[in-house]
Amino acid sequence: MAEGERGKPAKYSAAGLLRRGLKGESWPRVWQEHELRTTYDAVIIGAGIHGLATAYYLAKNHGINRVAVVDKGYVGGGGSGRNTAIIRSNYLTPEGVAFYDRSLTLYNEMSAELNMNVMFSKRGHLTLAHSDAAMRTMNWRAEVNKLSGVDSSVIGPGEVKKLVPSLDTSLASRYPILGALHHPPGGTVRHDAVNWGYARAADALGVEIHQQTEVTDIFVAGGDGPQNKGTGGVVKGVRTTRGDITAPVVVNCTAGWSSLIADMAGVRLPVVTHPLQAAVTEPVRAFLPAVVVSGSLHVYVSQTARGELVFGAAVDPFATYSTAGSLEFAEGLASHVLQLMPGISNLRLLRQWAGLCDMTPDYSPIMGFTPVDGFICDVGWGTYGFKAGPVAGEQIAEAIASGKTPELIRNFALERFADGRLVGEKGAAAVGH
Ligand SMILES: Cc1cc2nc3c(=O)[nH]c(=O)nc-3n(C[C@H](O)[C@H](O)[C@H](O)COP(=O)(O)OP(=O)(O)OC[C@H]3O[C@@H](n4cnc5c(N)ncnc54)[C@H](O)[C@@H]3O)c2cc1C
Repeated sequence: MAEGERGKPAKYSAAGLLRRGLKGESWPRVWQEHELRTTYDAVIIGAGIHGLATAYYLAKNHGINRVAVVDKGYVGGGGSGRNTAIIRSNYLTPEGVAFYDRSLTLYNEMSAELNMNVMFSKRGHLTLAHSDAAMRTMNWRAEVNKLSGVDSSVIGPGEVKKLVPSLDTSLASRYPILGALHHPPGGTVRHDAVNWGYARAADALGVEIHQQTEVTDIFVAGGDGPQNKGTGGVVKGVRTTRGDITAPVVVNCTAGWSSLIADMAGVRLPVVTHPLQAAVTEPVRAFLPAVVVSGSLHVYVSQTARGELVFGAAVDPFATYSTAGSLEFAEGLASHVLQLMPGISNLRLLRQWAGLCDMTPDYSPIMGFTPVDGFICDVGWGTYGFKAGPVAGEQIAEAIASGKTPELIRNFALERFADGRLVGEKGAAAVGH
């Protein structure tokens, strides 16, 4: 994508584009590079969807643009560029459903809002049930969803077959499909376009994006301990590999690294970091018109606009910061997918990869203020945070600007673990993402 004025796409005719391509001219940068200043109104750690969306809404909705988004790698290099881009709002708890549904609204408007085709494909989302227990959970979710005004209902195997003919719905299959939760507004999006769209739009509003800038410490004054470990204090800024920054607000948007960052501020997070793997096949003609998830078989699949099948699963059952793929994953995935769709046994897997997921005990995120004044967390995004990026960014920006926790994220505060007010989403978030 070419740029004209800062952040505004330049207009080229088709012939102009062709000429430019043939001449091999390089394209101007979509977002700018800056010298790192010594002071900002807010430093956001992490240039994934959450950090970029927070910066964008801070600038757009609240006029706060003296903001640095710093990342030790590059824009979208974390989970935001590794996810399988499934978007939905058919969660299990009323607070979860309301929150994710706001994100779905923002995704529906996003291409126009960011002037970027994010390829949101509202193709519907099916969560299969292979047991009576799973049917009970699907009915429960459908009822909670309907009460919140979300389009979601339980359908039988015949309707499942009509929607996705390639699924084996026969009762003779090893894991017969007893029914499914059908969520028509769900679908997929192009993750890179979303990341780049937010980065470009935030940059256009004056936000600075600093790639290759690692935060190595967080400065906290006051409180009791040497770093006021968990006992309060006020955030003063961050140390980075490119110099120190003074800022009254520091936001932790680092997903799989969030507990390491929170630890620098003396805040302990109840998260454990697990890798999550995914894989993609060679492209074939379009035949899979919906996203299909099977919690019992630990697998989900969708087809991209290019025709590849994208598969995902549950997190690896051990904690590590390694993002190496494994043969066990590929084997398990293939055997489970073929239970559902025996017809694709000749397709070849092209690639597999992994990202890091910070899992909380209740499978819900941690958003909002912490015991350290000015240190804000938007973390605990597990395997489901890409769909939440827009709404989390919007709400965290509002919290920063107003100094108050917005209603939509009140139930996701860190204190819930101390108060015993968990938001249990495991039944809707474990594999479905
Ligand atoms: C394989 C896979 C499939 C998934 N599928 C889905 C899905 O279908 N739907 C869905 O909603 N979610 C999905 N997710 C989850 C989703 O990807 C994440 O929850 C989401 O992208 C988190 O976004 P983020 O902006 O918070 O963090 P990230 O995109 O991970 O960004 C965090 C950034 O922080 C930076 N960072 C870390 N430490 C430092 C430091 N010390 N200093 C500076 N920068 C630092 C990193 O470099 C990174 O760029 C999936 C995840 C994976 C791995």
